[in-house]
Amino acid sequence: MDKKTQTNTNLLDVTDLQKYYPVHKGVFRSVVGQVKAVDSINLSIKKGESLGLVGESGCGKTTAGRTIMGLIKATGGDVHFQRRKADAAGGPGEAINITKASPDLMKTLRTEMQIIFQDPYSSLNPRMTIDEIIGEGLRVHGVARGRDWVDRVRELLELVGLSPDHMKRFPHQFSGGQRQRIAIARALALRPQLVVADEPVSALDVSIQAQVLNLLQDLQEQLGLTYLFISHDLSVIKYITDRVAVMYLGKIVELTDTDALFSKPGHPYTEALLSAIQVPDPDHRIQQILLDGDVPSPLNPPTGCYFHPRCRYRQDQCRNEQPAYREVEAGHFVTCHLSETLSLQPLYQS
Ligand code: SF4
Repeated sequence: MDKKTQTNTNLLDVTDLQKYYPVHKGVFRSVVGQVKAVDSINLSIKKGESLGLVGESGCGKTTAGRTIMGLIKATGGDVHFQRRKADAAGGPGEAINITKASPDLMKTLRTEMQIIFQDPYSSLNPRMTIDEIIGEGLRVHGVARGRDWVDRVRELLELVGLSPDHMKRFPHQFSGGQRQRIAIARALALRPQLVVADEPVSALDVSIQAQVLNLLQDLQEQLGLTYLFISHDLSVIKYITDRVAVMYLGKIVELTDTDALFSKPGHPYTEALLSAIQVPDPDHRIQQILLDGDVPSPLNPPTGCYFHPRCRYRQDQCRNEQPAYREVEAGHFVTCHLSETLSLQPLYQS
C-alpha cells in the first residue's frame, strides 16, 4: 500500500467496544447468558490507512465492523469518528461518538462512512437499474439532481471501470466482478472518508479477486480513502492492508503492521493462521500447525485465555488468568501471557 496518502490523524478511535446478545430461555424468556460477539476491542485507524480485521468465521469481525459503522447498536464502549469540515478546505472537523449519536446525526454521518458487503448478488436490488442503485444515495441526501445526478453516476461508473452506456441495465446482466464494481461505485457516491469492506472479494473467482483488490487499492490512492478491510483470508489482507488486527472469540488477540504480522507474529493463534497459507514456492517450507478442536462457543468461553484449549504453548497460568491486551513493542499489541518468551514461526523472514 502506498503510504503517501496516510496521515498521522486518527479517523477512527474504537475504545472498549462491546456487542453482547442476550440469550433467553424458558416460558418467561429470562436472560440466562450473553453471547459476547465483540468483547471490549480497542483499535484506531489513521486517515488514509487500510486496517485489516481477520479471523475465522464466527470470531466477531463482521459484527465489529457493523457496530463500528453504527449499523448495530453497541452494548458498551465508544467509537469516535473524525468528521470532515463542511468547508471546501476539508480539514478535520468535529469528532463524533457513533455509539451515542442520534438517528438524525447518523443519517448525515452516512455520507462519510460507507460499507461494501460480501455478496454482490444479494446486496444489489434486482428490480433497480444500475443508475438508480448507484445514484440512490445522491438523491436521498439531496446531493445531486437532474443533469448533475446523471453526470455524477456516469463519472462513478467510469471510476470503477464500467461503461456509462450500461447504466440502464439491471444487476443480473452483470458478472460477479462487475456487480462488486457497482457496489463499490454505490459506496463511493457520497464521497465517504471511511469504507468498511466486509469480505468484498470472497464471493468472487480468484482471477476476479485480484482485479477488484487492485481497483480498491487504486481508489484509495486516488481518493484518499480509509479502509476497514474485513476478511477471513490472510493472503487478501496481506495484499491490501497497512496494519492487521486478528480476532478470536470476540477479542483482538494481535494488532500490528502487516509486514510485522507475517514476519514476526506475536500470538500463537496468528502463527497457526499463517501456517495455513499456501505459498507457491517449493523451497518455502513451513510446518502447518493444526489447532485442536473447534472454536469454543462465545456463549460459554473457556476460562483464562480464550485460546488456551487449542494452544500448543499453554501453561497453568493460561487456564486461570485472562491475558491483557498490551503493547509488547511499539505499535505491536498482543493478548498473550507468554508473547515475549515464545519464538513463533513466521510466514517469511523480514
Ligand atoms: Fe497460548 Fe497462553 Fe498465550 Fe493463551 S496466553 S495464547 S494459551 S500461551
